Amino acid sequence: MSKQNAISIPKGTHHWHKLLNMLLPPHCVLCGMSSGAISICEPCWQDLPWAGPQCLQCGLPLPTGRNQVCGQCQQAPPPFHRTVSPLEYAFPADQLVRALKFHRQLAEGRVLSHLLCACISAGGFTLPDTLIPVPLHRIRMLKRGFNQACEISNHISKALGIPHIATGLRRTRNTSAQSGLSRKQRRSNVRGAFYWHGNRLPGQHVALIDDVMTTGTTVSECTRVLKKAGARRVDVWVPTRAVPAHQ
Ligand SMILES: [Zn+2]
Ligand SMILES: [Zn+2]
Repeated sequence: MSKQNAISIPKGTHHWHKLLNMLLPPHCVLCGMSSGAISICEPCWQDLPWAGPQCLQCGLPLPTGRNQVCGQCQQAPPPFHRTVSPLEYAFPADQLVRALKFHRQLAEGRVLSHLLCACISAGGFTLPDTLIPVPLHRIRMLKRGFNQACEISNHISKALGIPHIATGLRRTRNTSAQSGLSRKQRRSNVRGAFYWHGNRLPGQHVALIDDVMTTGTTVSECTRVLKKAGARRVDVWVPTRAVPAHQ
């Protein structure tokens, strides 16, 4: 399997899971049974809503086949190069995301980070030079006390040994929630909402990290900003991918 063409969830993730579990215990965040170091037991891990065949570029499901790009990405390619999103944003993965985001449940954050690492390690993806989390606006950051994307990025940085720049990408305004907006409204909602405040990224391959990707408008806007800052290639790494109802 070539490094460029591996987006499906490889069986190797389960070996990775076993290896991590040899390290020892707390409890599974989903069923409460004793589990290994990553806080999810093997049956719950296997029952997660693992994504099937996906578009290499945007991560949306494809009816059949692997290593393909969907029609929409062929017609109007998004600015980012590749999406890695091992789970669908569906029960119980959505619970893990909400527990991390709204209740700062760090064990759930570790599970999401580990499964992203497992997917990346087993899939042989080209590793980026830098990880950059999608930022929260500072008002929301003050209210919430932490940025869930940064939490995930920090874990992955340590696990894969890739530097992460937590504060380079910033939000200029507190955009209204994206849920419930049309694609067009989402696009105008995030336009100009980010800027880069850091050293330039000449020729760098960057992975943008977030907790969930929905229409991709936020990561598209972030990608444009990072490319203006010099990045050569931007990938999107998210543990979960929401699939629009019409898909
Ligand atoms: Zn369990
Ligand atoms: Zn696509």
